[in-house]
Amino acid sequence: MSAKLIPSVCPYCAVGCGFYIVVEKGKAIGIEYMTEHPTCEGALCPKGNAVLEFLNHEERLKYPLKRAGDTFVRISWDEALDLVAEGLSRNLKKHGPKSLGFLASSRCNNEENYLMQKLARMLGSPNVDNCARLCHSPTVVGLGAVFGAGAMTNNLIDLQNSKCIFAIGTNFTEAHPIVTRWVQRAKDRGAKVIVADPRITSTSWMADMHLRIKPGSDIDLLRGMMKVIIDEGLADQKFISQRTDGYQELLQNLRGFSVHEAAELTGVSADQIVKAARIYAKSPASALLYSMGITQHVCGTDNVKLCATLALVSGQIGRPGSGVWPMRGQNNVQGNCDMGGMAEFYPGYKRASDPKSAEFFESAWGASGLPLGPGLTSTEMTDAALEGTIKALYIIGEDPVICDPNIKKTTAALENLDFLVVQEIFMTATAKMADVVLPAAAWAEKDGSYTSMERRVQWIDQAVSPVGEARDGLWIINEIGKRLGLDLKGTSATEILKEINRYVPAYGGMTKERISRIGGLRWPCPDETHPGTDILHCERFATADGKAKMASVLNVPPAEMTSPEYPILLSTGRIVVHYNSGSMTRRSPSLLERDPELYVEINPEDAASLKVRHGDVVKVKTVRGETEAVARITGKVKPGIVFMPFHWQGTNIITSDALDPVSKIPEYKMAACRIEAKS
Ligand code: SF4
Repeated sequence: MSAKLIPSVCPYCAVGCGFYIVVEKGKAIGIEYMTEHPTCEGALCPKGNAVLEFLNHEERLKYPLKRAGDTFVRISWDEALDLVAEGLSRNLKKHGPKSLGFLASSRCNNEENYLMQKLARMLGSPNVDNCARLCHSPTVVGLGAVFGAGAMTNNLIDLQNSKCIFAIGTNFTEAHPIVTRWVQRAKDRGAKVIVADPRITSTSWMADMHLRIKPGSDIDLLRGMMKVIIDEGLADQKFISQRTDGYQELLQNLRGFSVHEAAELTGVSADQIVKAARIYAKSPASALLYSMGITQHVCGTDNVKLCATLALVSGQIGRPGSGVWPMRGQNNVQGNCDMGGMAEFYPGYKRASDPKSAEFFESAWGASGLPLGPGLTSTEMTDAALEGTIKALYIIGEDPVICDPNIKKTTAALENLDFLVVQEIFMTATAKMADVVLPAAAWAEKDGSYTSMERRVQWIDQAVSPVGEARDGLWIINEIGKRLGLDLKGTSATEILKEINRYVPAYGGMTKERISRIGGLRWPCPDETHPGTDILHCERFATADGKAKMASVLNVPPAEMTSPEYPILLSTGRIVVHYNSGSMTRRSPSLLERDPELYVEINPEDAASLKVRHGDVVKVKTVRGETEAVARITGKVKPGIVFMPFHWQGTNIITSDALDPVSKIPEYKMAACRIEAKS
């Protein structure tokens, strides 16, 4: 039998690179590059190249399991599904629907996430959320408030049309490596690249200007740049008057503020701020890129709003090369939010607090009594589980015991549950705490669509059969629904996509046939004749009156300040060869070999005073606990700051769980710590 090439989409980050899986005798034996894919043009980063290492890994979960004391025993699917239904209905009857929580998975496809939130809401629970809460919930609410849509305004290919690329709080060369291709292409065509980041990174290496700001001073920098732009007459007054509201309030907000004050607050010289502002505002097409360096703060939503406002003041939006590019995290985090896997929204961003949304879906789903939201966010569900108001949790493809901040709290919360079911592809740290573990098909083992960070929706067909007795998530959710007396309708991804076409307007014209073509379509695509949308907000914004709403904000200090006891600031982030909780990349030998252990970057001055040498194992302590890491002595971090990647459990033992009050994202980027040499 000859090998077949099955088109696929990378299951790691939200860039959405395509490739072919080589299938022979029913087994995935290799990958082939997809040179015709519009975003990646055949390129893949190290993670994309290594996808089969986790797909074919011997530790994949193959059978349903139930807890038996400190261990697990294999059970049949019937028994597993009965146990799940019993665990959920027991708490539903005793404590009501709000005692149930659901975490949808941004590693799963749109159809699974649509069905997951449908299950939650048809059971009467508004508590459904996803990992966007931990990375880009400020984008959803912040860009949503300013532009009317919480998504990337342009697309990745369009970066080549930019003449200035301002990247703030994003190390895209490591976190989203294929984006680098398009930034480099812009640079080759003469674009200036400005990077604002406290650390020296591979992204700052490619910059023409590196603004090495103090952590947590993003708003001060953005206000400083806007002040320069306005004072020097570089604001786009025609754009402002025709297409925005809130400019007078912004002028008031900036009155009395000076670039010198901004310089003092950010640690960036006034000259550099002025130069960056001029380049950004004067360029014929400026792109603003940001990621978790902007969002993961107690002022994450305000940070996002101000990034958007800088673009508005300069008229840098709604044209080729001009716009705002949030760099989303997981492969389908955009789609999960689009599908209503968020506490604040029903599918299609219909507000969960609006009775009309519930009425709409009652009619669509033939249901009654759908809940009003917002429900509890994932971060709030942790507190509710600790308090005993969330009793049962159904988690698909998320690993809060590694990814949440202040893990000890999360662990205590999960221990306090009456019932925990985890649907996964590996026995993760979270799955180890479950009462029932359901083995799920991985991305290549099922049909479905994924939405990348550039709103690109791509359908993939199943390439290989699931391992062992693992099953497609749709089958599992449907079976649980049936046992709870619900007909969720749609056992196949094809059928559910048709339902999505009907009820999510931006996906209206995204038929399976159309999004199966290489590269798919970008939303909004309201009907079957629509070609999809390359650039948002060209004529009007997605707000009710079509105008963007400028934000006027002041910086908010971090929730946790350094002190004599904890004198060093800890920041966390991604590295190129690992991904989120590491459950997939730490099982991939070629990736693990490159970065096998948790490390902490320490400036040489701090290392000297701490008497720590490169390669020493040190303890990193915060008020929440301590962890061990290998010291890397490097000038990449300034004195008084250390950096740790978050792909190992140790990191989030010590991170801060202080929340942005609007988006409820934790402040992962700012924790006060101390370093001790290990005795
Ligand atoms: Fe996969 Fe992202 Fe790497 Fe592309 S850039 S290969 S989508 S991990």
